[in-house]
This record gives sequence, structure tokens and C-alpha cells, in this order.
Amino acid sequence: MLDLVSRPAPWHQPIWQQLTAQQDFAHAYLFSGQPGGGKRRFASAFAAFLMCDAPEHGFACDQCRSCHLRLAGSHPDLLLLEPEEEGKAIRVDAVRQLVDFISQTAQQGGRKVVVLQPAEAMNVNAANALLKSLEEPSAQTYLLLISDQPSRLLPTVRSRCRVQPLGLPAGTEALAWLTEQGGERSREECALLLQMAGGAPLLALTLAQQDALAQREKVVEGIKALLKGQVAPSRLAEQWNAVPIELLLDWFCAWTLDLLKLQQGAVEHATSADMEKVLGYMAQKLEVQRLLAWQDWLLEHRRLFASKANLNRVLFLEKALVQWKNLLQRR
Ligand SMILES: [Zn+2]
Repeated sequence: MLDLVSRPAPWHQPIWQQLTAQQDFAHAYLFSGQPGGGKRRFASAFAAFLMCDAPEHGFACDQCRSCHLRLAGSHPDLLLLEPEEEGKAIRVDAVRQLVDFISQTAQQGGRKVVVLQPAEAMNVNAANALLKSLEEPSAQTYLLLISDQPSRLLPTVRSRCRVQPLGLPAGTEALAWLTEQGGERSREECALLLQMAGGAPLLALTLAQQDALAQREKVVEGIKALLKGQVAPSRLAEQWNAVPIELLLDWFCAWTLDLLKLQQGAVEHATSADMEKVLGYMAQKLEVQRLLAWQDWLLEHRRLFASKANLNRVLFLEKALVQWKNLLQRR
């Protein structure tokens, strides 16, 4: 189901105004940008706007028949295509369903809209099937593609869409927005969440809802105990069982980058405030060669996990923690 919203995130408001003020819309759009930055929300609101019978003040009205059908998740002229399971491909069968949908007349007599996300999940056959629809647009039909990684799309697909990058807000705007979202979070906690989310506000909010702050605290405490020799790597790897592996990988990558910058004197303080002391201490002690070798190993495993390789996470974490501790050992 699409997000049930009729407005984009506030930081995309200027782009929204430009886009919706146009008289003739493109047949296909590609909304690109970092995960958690508001692309899906933008595309959902834009789909709502295109389908609304009587938009008000430049947004879908949420009152008309078309809006009611959409809000109920049962608009026959609105199609959402996404992988059956997260991380899986969008297959050619799904795109054939799209081609059929496009060739039929609109059941409600208005526009038809297809939202496809993430567009890079289409395999080659699916993308080729989609190309036909992009080459022979049908009237009153709009394709909205959403992508974190537009460079992974077939160039022929990309070139047939109007590409609309949707960037992130400035740090202060993101922090103000996240603080306003309720939940009993301090400003410091919001700043930490945003940092974990690479500055993407909606991702930061999701992390907050997934209790990432508590998990982070547990992990940071664990790292301190590990370096003091108070806990064995194997024990810690098991204790972190409930922490998503993507988060752990992200954190270790960010800390490693902090260590490199600190060691080269490029920065005075680590960007990870809760790890500032630990990283500062480590940066003074470790050897750069060892750090670079660790970084290579870490990035390689992050890639493997991202490609859904069948890895044993406890064994991986144990190995990672042994190496992390060994960073401090002199040869
Ligand atoms: Zn409406």
C-alpha cells in the first residue's frame, strides 16, 4: 500500500510547488534520493494529487470519491508494484501486470497512476517489458518510479523518465523536524538518530520507532567492555542478537571512518558523540595499516550482507569483534 498522505515532506515543498504548477505532466517520473529522505512520501502524495477529482490548494483534497477510494486502498486505477519480499527482484510477471493495467481504460474515468518501487529491483526482463510502456505512453496514464540507486537502472529506462532528485534537508531543518515528531526524545538523541540515518529524517524516525537508541547504547557499552577485556567477543556477538545486522555494519563503518579521520588529524572529534572518547583513545594507539585492512574486510562483508549472502551472523560478529580489539595491538 502507498503512504496515505496528500502532502510531501516539508523540505520537498518547493520542488512540489514547481512540479504541480506545470500544466502538462510528464508521462513518467523517476524520483531519486537517499533512503529515508521522503521519496516514497513524495510519490504517494503526487499520485494522490494526480488522481484527485478536485485538488485544493495544490494538494489532493482527501474528500472526493477518488480520494476516498485511494485512502481505502481500493482505487482500481492506482497500481503499486514492489517486490513480493523486501530485497527481492521485481519480476517480469509483475511488469506484465503493469502493461495490462496500462492498456485497460480507467475504471473511474480519470487518470491512471502506477507507482513502482524500488525501480532498481526490476530484473533485466522486467525492465525491458517496462520499456515498451515508456516508449508508447498511453494518454492519462502516469508512471512514478522511485529509486535509491538510479545508476543501477537501464540507461534506456532512465532516459525516458523525467528525473526528479529529492534531496535531504539541511541538518538544522532535519533536527527541528525530528524533534517535532513527538516521542520523548531529547535533542541529543534526535541528533544521534539523524547521524545514524545519514541525515535522512524519515529513516531517523523509523530507527527511533525500532528502538535503535536503546540498541545503540547496548552496543556502545559492549564495545567499551570488550576493549577493557571484560567480555569475550563470542559472548558479545550473542548478546547483540536482537540488533539488526545492517545497523551494526553501518555503525562499525562510521566508527572506522572516524578513526581514519582522527588518525590523519583531519578532524578533532569523532562524529559519533557517544563513541567520542573510545575512538579518540583508539586513534592514538592503532596502526594505520591494520586499520585499512580492517576497513577492507568490513566493507567486503557489508557488501556480502547487502547482497543477502548466506552468512552466519554470530560467527561474523565474533570475527569482527576479535579484529576490532586487535586494532589496538602493536605488532
Ligand atoms: Zn480528492
